[in-house]
Amino acid sequence: MIRRFLLYIGRWQLSSPILAPIVALFTGTPIWGTWQTWAGTIVANLIGGCIFFWVDRFIFTSASVEMWHVKENGICDKCGKEASLWRLVLAPNYDKRQSEPKFLCMECSKLKTDELRRKGLKIRGKSY
Ligand SMILES: [Zn+2]
Repeated sequence: MIRRFLLYIGRWQLSSPILAPIVALFTGTPIWGTWQTWAGTIVANLIGGCIFFWVDRFIFTSASVEMWHVKENGICDKCGKEASLWRLVLAPNYDKRQSEPKFLCMECSKLKTDELRRKGLKIRGKSY
């Protein structure tokens, strides 16, 4: 976890060479900036990284966010039709990250999500 956090903070610092010259440009200093421009950019990216590490972690791991896998083209595991395929991986009270992947065509996927909703799961679903 601490390694991921440090990598994330480092990734944020990669934007400093882009951000500092733009801040310099908008503050009327030379495009290469002053030490204050660079110090401010680095500190801002440090603060941003510390905040958005948790925000991004919530977005990408929270069960309140649905995770879908999509295949451009393939064979539906339910009806055998060749089509674009979807697979619901993660939703509130629904976690198939460790299950064998089953991809469904649009019609079968809609039937499956309707069935899950009847069972009480709160699934928003793909926008079909
Ligand atoms: Zn199907």
